[in-house]
Amino acid sequence: MKIGIVGLGLIGGSLGLDLRSQGHEVLGVSRQERTCKIAVARGAVDDAGVDLKFLADTDAIFICTPLAHLYTTVTQLIPYLSLNTVLTDVGSVKNSVVQAISPVWKNFVGGHPMSGTAESGIEAAQHGLFAQNPYVLTPTETTPLGAIALIESLIKPLQVRLYHCSPADHDRAVAWISHLPVMVSASLIAACTSESDSSALKLAQMLASSGFRDTSRVGGGNPELGVMMAQYNTVEVLRSLSVYRDKLDQIIGTIEQEDWSALEEILQQSQRDRPKFVE
Ligand code: NAP
Repeated sequence: MKIGIVGLGLIGGSLGLDLRSQGHEVLGVSRQERTCKIAVARGAVDDAGVDLKFLADTDAIFICTPLAHLYTTVTQLIPYLSLNTVLTDVGSVKNSVVQAISPVWKNFVGGHPMSGTAESGIEAAQHGLFAQNPYVLTPTETTPLGAIALIESLIKPLQVRLYHCSPADHDRAVAWISHLPVMVSASLIAACTSESDSSALKLAQMLASSGFRDTSRVGGGNPELGVMMAQYNTVEVLRSLSVYRDKLDQIIGTIEQEDWSALEEILQQSQRDRPKFVE
């Protein structure tokens, strides 16, 4: 199949690498010439350019630009598309994106691969980024079944764990497991950095090991992406942060009151609950 990708960064570049290894012809469009050249050199696309016209003959297009550019990218693409072209996006927020794009392009299927790294840009693109990880599609009642089937046929061979849900359910769920962790992890790094004793801070930085690496990873990622999560999923991000603040206050309360059995109960419960989210 002839596939287009707009936005040759971490996600767009990684999709290109995987789709090409499945035997598809992949054409890319990105904002900068330099990115296009690197994408071709890295084998993420067969060819690339900065003009959306380049994708005129494609069967399906993955829109992999930052959240703020998804809708405008689609409206700028439309003049070059045949009515059968299927569009999908990879944005980390779905409700506002699907509500904006569905009315202007019938063959649109919202999507979100739940994969990433702390790096961004084409240099960070990698083979197999999506394998074994969830990939959510968020079709609506009006999404054509053929469009859903076509996108599924492209992403299933990437060994993803495929899920369907409504855009609103997606945004509520990912606020808990993706957007809240970014804010919590960023606050953790900021709290540590605010240590006023410079020798204690230096020692902490030297002693930081696997535990800190795990808990700080998502807070040390792409700042633009974190801002957009909050900007485009405001209600759900605020709801999850407010519950999180209550849970933190509960823990502070048990420690202030030296109520070690209450603290132990909280920690035993979290130990039991963690495997329900990750193995
Ligand atoms: P990224 O590495 O920064 O890549 C985005 C790329 O989009 C940039 O390389 C940039 O290309 C290009 N771009 C920006 N504006 C453009 C425009 N107007 N037209 C064409 N290309 C444009 O970001 P990313 O992490 O891949 O994120 C891309 C999308 O994936 C976002 O919608 C995000 O919500 C979603 N997502 C991200 C993750 C994650 O963990 N990173 C996970 C799942 C989904 P140039 O280099 O040419 O400027």
